[in-house]
Parts: sequence; structure tokens; C-alpha cells
Amino acid sequence: MPEFDFIVVGAGTAGCVLAARLSEDDRVRVLLLEAGGADRTRAMTVPSAWPENLGSDADWAQVTTPQAEAGPALYPRGRTLGGGSAINAMGHVRAHPALYDGWASGGAPGWGYRDLLPYFRRSEQAPGHDPELRGTDGPIRVAPAAPADRHPVAQALAGGLEAIGCPVTDDLSGARPEGVAWVDLAIADGERVSSADAYLRPALGRPNLVVRTGGLVTGLDVRGDSCAGVSYVWDGIPGHASAAEVVLAAGAVGSPQLLLLSGIGPAGALRALGLDVVADLAGVGQNLQDHPVVMVTYQAAAALPRSRYNHGEVYTAVRTELANGYPDLQVFPILRPLAAPGFDAPAVGCNLVAAVVAPSSRGSLRLASPVPGAAPLIDPGFLADPRDVDRLEAGLDLIRAAAATDVFQATGLTELWPGPGAGPRDYIGRAVGSYYHPAGTCRMGVGPDAVVDPVLRVGGLSGLRVADASVMPVITNAHPNATVLAIAERAAGLLLGQA
Ligand SMILES: Cc1cc2nc3c(=O)[nH]c(=O)nc-3n(C[C@H](O)[C@H](O)[C@H](O)COP(=O)(O)OP(=O)(O)OC[C@H]3O[C@@H](n4cnc5c(N)ncnc54)[C@H](O)[C@@H]3O)c2cc1C
Repeated sequence: MPEFDFIVVGAGTAGCVLAARLSEDDRVRVLLLEAGGADRTRAMTVPSAWPENLGSDADWAQVTTPQAEAGPALYPRGRTLGGGSAINAMGHVRAHPALYDGWASGGAPGWGYRDLLPYFRRSEQAPGHDPELRGTDGPIRVAPAAPADRHPVAQALAGGLEAIGCPVTDDLSGARPEGVAWVDLAIADGERVSSADAYLRPALGRPNLVVRTGGLVTGLDVRGDSCAGVSYVWDGIPGHASAAEVVLAAGAVGSPQLLLLSGIGPAGALRALGLDVVADLAGVGQNLQDHPVVMVTYQAAAALPRSRYNHGEVYTAVRTELANGYPDLQVFPILRPLAAPGFDAPAVGCNLVAAVVAPSSRGSLRLASPVPGAAPLIDPGFLADPRDVDRLEAGLDLIRAAAATDVFQATGLTELWPGPGAGPRDYIGRAVGSYYHPAGTCRMGVGPDAVVDPVLRVGGLSGLRVADASVMPVITNAHPNATVLAIAERAAGLLLGQA
């Protein structure tokens, strides 16, 4: 008899949903294993303090391989109860319905927009929106920045974009999923709402749920063509736990990394590292997608007020000439005086940012070493496809046009980088960075490159599924967290035979 019905690896956005939903059935024994700690720090709680999470104990704090001319990019990932949802910028946005319909028609039946809608609604509580489309009583409480508290620069950007003809929408996750929007933020009563806060912590007293933090899952115990459990190291001591089914929710870096360490992946690459091949699955770690961003940095003559929210507040989804069925570009502010690595930040100022949200580029996640815990080679392939440079150039043009309007000029902000008159293309290559949204490395679908099938089973093996950002066949054209919640909600239903 296995010790557990389910072992969930990783207590991130998806893992907390899975552990909480699975353990609602008191006949089901669940073990949740998380590498990070259980603290809920100030930086994980106070919305405007979220940047302090970066580089903290709650961040894996890894970097990418060199990207374009910018060198290695910072690549934070949550390492704590709640994972990314405990350290991220709290944007809560769905992708365009056509994106999910593309998943379904591309080999993942059951994952189209109408299929996912009940799970989106189940995960959230979004008062003030259309209750046919948005959740009314789910665990994740969300709301946009209150009109009276909106940052003046965010308001000026919204006004500038509107003045040059961008449509305005009252809900990017609702019936009109493009335009300028005061998006929902996972903030309630002035505090962040992570999946640990909303799903896991209320379930911690259940006798059928065991949660262990602060140890590393090092591999999967595969016997024949069946996964029987996991190996781990806790307090320096190796151990095993067995289950009828193991669910990987270690994220778009952690899940493929564990499969590869366990001998599940491209046979040639595994053998080159001296790993025994358990299953030759060419797609593991391939198809890494992320949203590249480029900041236009502005300086101010006098100090700006502090954001009372996430230093973002207003997000705009638009289509470039290259868009294919849904917006491929996002523009948003970072209401802090930062600059791209290698460029001097202003003493006072902020940034207007362009992000490619439907990138053509693809990258990969590979092992650098067969040692569990060693940082992998993360290559999001930013700008590998020149169409993404074209999209970012369109984004910088849009930002500069909005910044030239009277409503934005009234802020007194002046462009510092790339600088007035500077052409954008060279700057884009030097300044590109990540929106911190990796996805796609255990692609769901059919065919030789798929890693999981449409019910999330890892190809050819029983007792092993993946349910997190890594299963997305195509990255969301929006922040991913709301979609990861829905993936995990549907996955829990599949595991319990209810979906
Ligand atoms: C700085 C930052 C800002 C972001 N801003 C936003 C935003 O505003 N809106 C949005 O929608 N998205 C945002 N994201 C992205 C979003 O948070 C992620 O897409 C989401 O959290 C992914 O969820 P997941 O469950 O797939 O993985 P994660 O939440 O990353 O969870 C994986 C968990 O597995 C654990 N783990 C990994 N390997 C092991 C192992 N071997 N053993 C044990 N445990 C392991 C990790 O520690 C982690 O807790 C941001 C991300 C970051 C880092």
C-alpha cells in the first residue's frame, strides 16, 4: 500500500490549489512537498513591498543564459508556500479566449475557453464584474486599484493611450479582453492574496493533508512504466515517500528539471550527463516561452508619490500588425525609478514598459549537471525570432506616442532611456529582460513533442502527472497566474475523477 493517494511536488500557485482541493475529500491522503519555507513575510503581504521578495530566501534567484545583447537576465521564481503567487506582482488576468481555444484545437481537447471558464470562476472572487464570466465566491479575492488611490502616472499613461486611440475596457478578463484596463490585482483588505493564503492555509488543519517545507525533492521513483513515489532530502537526510499518483507542480523550471533528473526526457541529452534513460521524451524542457520586456525609463524633476498597489496598476493589451487572433503586446508602467541592467537608473522617475505577450521565440530548459539542486540552463530565447523585436519596436513607438500627449506631458516626466531621438532597435537588444512568466516546458498535447496528454499524464507512464505553468502549449497572452489557478482547479477535478 502506498503511504499517500497523492504526492504534490511544489507548493506554488498550482500546488496549493491541488493540495487544498484534493484534501477536501477526507478519504484522500495528500502529501505536499515544498523546497522553500512557510513564513509569510512583510514583503509577501504588503502589496507595494513585493519587489523586496526578489533575491530573498523566498526566491530561487537564478539567471538565464545570455539573451540577445543584454547578457544573462534575472530570473526570480518563488521558493516558499505559495510559490510565485507569494512573491509576484499580483496581476490577476486571463488570456484572450481565442488563446485557450487554440490550446484545445491544437491537441489539448478539454482546455478551451468554455471548458476552463468554470475553473476560472471557481478560483476567484471578483466583485463588480459580470458574474456569468467572473467568479463570485472563489478563494482568490481580486479587485482593481480603487479610483481614488490610483497613481497619477498610471492615470496619465491610461489617458495618453486613450488619447491616441487605444480602446478602454472595464475587464481584460471579461467580455472585452483588449484595451486599456485597471486590471484586477490579487489584493484584499490591503494585503496580497496568494494561493497559500487563500487555498492552503485554511486547509492546514486537515488530518489527511501533510505539508513539509524546507526540503528538496530530488527525483521520481519510477518502476517499470509506473511512478511509485518521490525521493527527497530533508534536513540533509535522504528519504522516499510513496503514492498512488505523483503530481508535479514545481513550475515551468522545476517540473521539467525533476523529470530530466529522473531520466525522463530527450535520451541523448540525458545520456550525455550520465543519466539512465527511463523514458525517451523529446519535449521535456523544450518549448520554453516567456514574455520579453523592454523599459522606457523616465526621469522626474520632483519625487513621485508611492504606488499604493503593485507599482503597475494599469495594463493595456493591444495588437501589433503581427498579431494572430489576439493581442500580442502589453504596455504598463513600473512606478519605480529603475532602469534596464547596464543603464543608470534615475534618482526619481519611473518606467513605461512594452511586453511581447504572444512571442514567436521559443527557448529551452536543460540540465547543467545531473546533481539535484544545481541551477539548470534557462534559455527563454528572447528575440530569437526577429518578429519579437518588431513587436517591441511597435511597443516603444506606442509608449512614445502616449508620452507625447498633453495628458502625459503634464506629469513633467522626460525620457532618459533609450533617450529622445535614439532609435529603438539597438536599445531593445541591449535592454531586453523577462516579465518572469516562464511556461510551456512540459507541453500538453499529442504527438512526439508533447510531454503530457490532455489529462496531464506524462507520456507512457502511469502514476505521474504535471499540473502547473509548464503544461501550457502556448503561453498566455496575459499574466499567467490566473490561468495556472484554473489549470490546477481542473487538474484536481481530473485527479478526483470529477472533471
Ligand atoms: C517576480 C515575479 C512577478 C510575477 N508577477 C506576476 C503577476 O503580476 N501576475 C501573474 O499572473 N504572474 C506573475 N508572475 C508569474 C506567476 O507567479 C507564475 O506564472 C506562477 O506562480 C506559476 O505557478 P506554478 O504553480 O506553475 O509554479 P510556482 O508558483 O513557481 O511553484 C513551484 C513551486 O515548486 C517548488 N519547487 C520547485 N522545485 C522543487 C523541488 N525540487 N522540490 C520541492 N519543491 C520544489 C518551488 O519552490 C515553488 O514553490 C510573476 C512571477 C515572478 C517570479
